Amino acid sequence: MKYDYIIVGAGLFGSVVAERIANILNKSVLVIDKRNHVGGNCYSHVDPDTGIEYHVYGTHIFHTSSRRVMDYVNRFTELNGYHHQVLTVHNDKVYQMPINLETINSFYGTHFYPQDAYEFIQQEKARDAVASPVNFEEKAISQIGRPLYEAFIKSYTAKQWQIDPKELPPQTFSRLPIRFNYNEDYFIDARWQGIPINGYTDIFNKLLDSEKITVQLKCDYFENHEQLFYNKKLIYSGPIDQFFGYKFGRLSWRTIKLETHCHLGNDFQGTSVMNYADSDVTYTRIHEPRHLHPERNYQNNKSIIFYEYPEYNPQDPFYPVNTSKDKKKLTQYKELALKKQDLIISGRLGSYAYYDMDKTILAALDCFDKLCEEMKRS
Ligand SMILES: Cc1cc2nc3c(=O)[nH]c(=O)nc-3n(C[C@H](O)[C@H](O)[C@H](O)COP(=O)(O)OP(=O)(O)OC[C@H]3O[C@@H](n4cnc5c(N)ncnc54)[C@H](O)[C@@H]3O)c2cc1C
Repeated sequence: MKYDYIIVGAGLFGSVVAERIANILNKSVLVIDKRNHVGGNCYSHVDPDTGIEYHVYGTHIFHTSSRRVMDYVNRFTELNGYHHQVLTVHNDKVYQMPINLETINSFYGTHFYPQDAYEFIQQEKARDAVASPVNFEEKAISQIGRPLYEAFIKSYTAKQWQIDPKELPPQTFSRLPIRFNYNEDYFIDARWQGIPINGYTDIFNKLLDSEKITVQLKCDYFENHEQLFYNKKLIYSGPIDQFFGYKFGRLSWRTIKLETHCHLGNDFQGTSVMNYADSDVTYTRIHEPRHLHPERNYQNNKSIIFYEYPEYNPQDPFYPVNTSKDKKKLTQYKELALKKQDLIISGRLGSYAYYDMDKTILAALDCFDKLCEEMKRS
């Protein structure tokens, strides 16, 4: 059968574009995914043993300040009002993350007021800061000083990325702000945040529920592309380097591995995500998904927990590492992609960018707008 569009990847990017094409353009779409489920990395599943819904590829908290994204999401789900907080263990003590006034006071054993803490941190920074940081470590020290960096950031980052933080670009640190108040809301700037009330997979089932959309799972594009026919466009949301046969070399990615445990008792750690900052603990985080849905009030005397370990698995890329070599290769791949008329490469893997879910939805809505403009012109 010939479809108007073929979309590779039933993740958030592919599913939003498919929904728009089917419902607005009334065109047929074949969505393929090599996994055995829709939803990409946002996929959620109910554990049959505990009845707890969890995010199979790692905890996902929806957060956005984009009215456009929220208006779109509201059509498929309500959010449950969950607000994300992160804690971290260092030398067997628990601290709040990102670093705030509580973290500073507990770590230094002080009772600073905001202005005192601010001035103290300026002095800490001045001791070791460099004027123009060229890597993650220098940037972090220039923003929080060496002692806080070495306690909370250095070993955690080295574990997470499996490389020396000096090898990471300075921009990676901008994701970790410092606060001089007691606000512990992780997504402090987000106008909306929460977990979809019926889980993420429910959204995907709704997005793809159209007679114009055919979903084929366990279908790898590279094993089947000769049999896939379309007359308008191929929309590909897999890794861009793989699409071009790694012509300019492989882009580097990091992945995580989750080890599942069942805890007897209603609550293992009292929060959804606990970070482990020290190098002698091999895992980076423990996730306890029951806390993501407080409104469900699970009462089963069991909790499912996940130990997170860093991993490099080229078969399952998660986060772009983005070294300077990667940036060069990416430019070459993007130039190639632009030369292909009937092809769009996007999404998290296609763009080789760390997109949160709201950015992925925006990218998908923008992609659809471009398709419409092209149709008007042709
Ligand atoms: C561990 C983790 C935690 C995250 N936490 C958050 C969070 O808390 N909040 C937030 O906003 N965002 C979070 N994100 C980001 C979020 O997961 C992404 O924004 C979103 O999943 C991107 O959607 P996508 O469709 O671009 O990519 P994906 O979800 O990766 O989907 C791509 C799909 O393409 C398929 N595919 C690839 N190659 C092929 C092929 N050759 N043939 C067929 N199918 C193929 C894959 O199987 C996959 O299903 C997190 C990401 C990760 C990895």
